[in-house]
Amino acid sequence: MRVLDELEPKKVFHFFEDLTMIPHGSYNEKAISDYCVKFAKDRGLEVEQDDLYDVIIKCPATPGYENVPGVILQGHLDMVNEKEDSCPIDMDKEGLQLEIVGDNVTAKGTTLGGDDGIAIAYALAIMDSDDIPHPSIEAVFTVSEETGMEGANHIDLSGLKNRRLLNMDSEDEGIFLTSCAGGGRVDSKLAIKRESRTGVEMRVELKGFTGGHSGTQIILGGANANIMAGRIAAAVTEKTGAALDYMKGGSKDNAIPRASELNFIVPESDTAAFREAAEAEAQKIKEEYSVQDPAFNIVITENATVTKNVLTAESLDTSLSLLFALPNGVQAMSADVENMVETSLNLGVMSTEEGFVHYRYAVRSSVNSAKEFLIGKMKRIIEHMGAEYSFEGAYPAWEYRKDSKLRDDMVRIWKEMYGQTPVVQGIHAGVECGLFSDKLDGIDAVSFGPQMSGVHTPEETLSISSTKRVWDFILKVLAVKD
Ligand SMILES: [Zn+2]
Repeated sequence: MRVLDELEPKKVFHFFEDLTMIPHGSYNEKAISDYCVKFAKDRGLEVEQDDLYDVIIKCPATPGYENVPGVILQGHLDMVNEKEDSCPIDMDKEGLQLEIVGDNVTAKGTTLGGDDGIAIAYALAIMDSDDIPHPSIEAVFTVSEETGMEGANHIDLSGLKNRRLLNMDSEDEGIFLTSCAGGGRVDSKLAIKRESRTGVEMRVELKGFTGGHSGTQIILGGANANIMAGRIAAAVTEKTGAALDYMKGGSKDNAIPRASELNFIVPESDTAAFREAAEAEAQKIKEEYSVQDPAFNIVITENATVTKNVLTAESLDTSLSLLFALPNGVQAMSADVENMVETSLNLGVMSTEEGFVHYRYAVRSSVNSAKEFLIGKMKRIIEHMGAEYSFEGAYPAWEYRKDSKLRDDMVRIWKEMYGQTPVVQGIHAGVECGLFSDKLDGIDAVSFGPQMSGVHTPEETLSISSTKRVWDFILKVLAVKD
């Protein structure tokens, strides 16, 4: 039984419901991609599907719009599969169980995939209609956005003629995104020497940091668990005869680490002084970050007396100097967009192997040259300290366009329709528009969408009234002639 058939706009919810019946978590997009290809073929529209299952559908202008600059309608095919523990649905194989709750559409026990099924539904509904005036449309549906934008990275856009991009992957009604950060990962590998030491094995765990996404939460200025671990390591090795076995923390470069761990060999006579030094430094950190990281605490565990190969004093010294010399956190705020970080970096992962200490950073900036300068600075520091530098996983920024007719049109139309000036924002994280702006010269892009909440969680909702408002708005934007 279909659930959304009575909702307006009818076609949008019809296609949206169809999509929710097709399992389409990231890397499982063949079926939903084939659905879109069939949609196009059934209507005689030109369509391409690449080997990752990205789809491009071309729909000609309606009469009178042949000479109006065309648009690219864009969204991603994949969704994040998350469900409640008690939910029996196999999201790899089964469709979702939709429900209407007040003004919202939700899925029972699972994510809904409004992110970003609604973009696909809007685009299909427009191309399906024969009474919506529009210029030439190139609909671009990408795969694996949620896992790392592999589809947008891979897709060949050289056949696209249009340069006005409507990306429909934002989830706050009335907010238009017009720039995003570019970035990548910087790795520093420092070779270390070890020597044998006998003493009491003591472990210090740092816990309870707030952490968060290194793009959206770096602005909060919380402590980085890895760097705080370095502070404790410095304090205890300066004040006692402790020697470091390892320091480690974090698992992803783009997450601010919430916990870290240190292991030492401590002379028996120094264990009390060790505790005192660790606790004193922890207390300083606690006071400095009492607002951002109120739950921070340390746990010190004393184990047996053992013999271990620990870092030599020189290796420890270089490891900590490198850790403290490399920048971390917000480096610059945007001058174009209020309250947006322009450039930042995050020491997401720190680990100690037998022969080296490894630091991995996520670097971001909405200004490509500022990113390059920061990376260059890190390379100098890393290599100056005798460590090995590498840079990987580059993705381009979507730079703010000072002149944007599309943005101006959209802001004006929204205001005329709904009486409110939309908020024009940038985001300090990567979005697909960055890859599109890198591949398509002269692109004019805006990202927007209807109101959703709880995306990527089983609480995800899509507002019905907002879906209608944004639909009416898209039709007005498509109808612009001059
Ligand atoms: Zn999305």
